Amino acid sequence: MEITSKEEAIARVSEGLDWFAQNDPSLFCDGDSIKALERQGSRLECATARAVSSFDQWGEWGRDGALSATAWVDTTCHVPKKEVRAQLRRGKALAVLPLVAQAWKDGDIGAAHVDALLRVKRPVTEEALSEAEGVLVDAARTLKFAEFSRVVDYWEQHADQDGTDEAAEAKRTQRDVYLYPSPNGYLGEMRFDTIGGAIVANEHKRLEEELFKADRAEAKERLGRDPRNDELARTPAQRRADAMIEMAARSASTPAGARRPEPLFSVLIDYPTLFGRISQLEQGPVVAPGSLLSWLDSANFERIVFGPKTRAECSETARFFTGATRRVVEVRDRQCQHPFCDLPAENCEMDHIVPFSEGGPTNQENAQVLCGRHNRMRYERPPPDG
Ligand SMILES: [Zn+2]
Repeated sequence: MEITSKEEAIARVSEGLDWFAQNDPSLFCDGDSIKALERQGSRLECATARAVSSFDQWGEWGRDGALSATAWVDTTCHVPKKEVRAQLRRGKALAVLPLVAQAWKDGDIGAAHVDALLRVKRPVTEEALSEAEGVLVDAARTLKFAEFSRVVDYWEQHADQDGTDEAAEAKRTQRDVYLYPSPNGYLGEMRFDTIGGAIVANEHKRLEEELFKADRAEAKERLGRDPRNDELARTPAQRRADAMIEMAARSASTPAGARRPEPLFSVLIDYPTLFGRISQLEQGPVVAPGSLLSWLDSANFERIVFGPKTRAECSETARFFTGATRRVVEVRDRQCQHPFCDLPAENCEMDHIVPFSEGGPTNQENAQVLCGRHNRMRYERPPPDG
């Protein structure tokens, strides 16, 4: 039956939602229902944003004496002003981003995608954004959200080189660490730019893993078997704190003039076919190339260039991936390659795509990063149907 008025449309949406509200969620806990609900939820958000933005332009908020549409929605619907402003921004942007608008109306993308794109929309990027709109919307449609965000970050670097370099510099300027004594011990906060933060976080994580191994070894000794994580002497929070104390202790005991270990951080630089100006820390954040300049002469910097002439290789008949091949595959894949997983490569295993026992070579092309569970899952039989 065709809907002929907004009253009818609202009544139908609300009837559908009544059904979901009245029934036990076990009735719609299957994959297809979840996909449908996520999609319809996005579409409803889109319709609301469009309505709110049009209300702002033409609506009746002034008649009630409200000074803005935002104030009217806040008072009438009890939606935080911040959220109303976000709805307005999204709704307005759709007028100049037709492909984004269509994808959101269809439920292919959601408010989070629109916000990510609006974050990089400014006068200097506007023209480039309308040219790249199709590519970015396709990325939003097909990639996991974190990957899509990275594409947007790359794109921003490409579209506004000066702006992203300046923003990186501004982040560096705002770095700050403080600790203050309180009756409950020391409290504090840290703020770093992406590269400085990666250096601190990498080392902190390394020490935390050392402590984790030590805790496991101690518990195994004590229990006479492999311990569960809740049987370790320290909680993860306690280990994080102890790792920080360990960093301080080691720093104080480093002899003057000692050589710094390398690398402090890894930068991935892709060949300039797709987005041109690409650099990313191994852990994921995209960095402005300008922010790397101050590190270039210190040699504490691992540069891996992916391109046809720069493959690293070891003997194809070796049984295990080692050395440069392993490192390159880890850095290339960055995380478990199972579609439902994003465990970082450093916690994963190397897998032969074609098994070694079936003649699969030990080279980059036949290698992928898989976490322990997904690696084992590959060799288990699929569960029986039904
Ligand atoms: Zn996995």
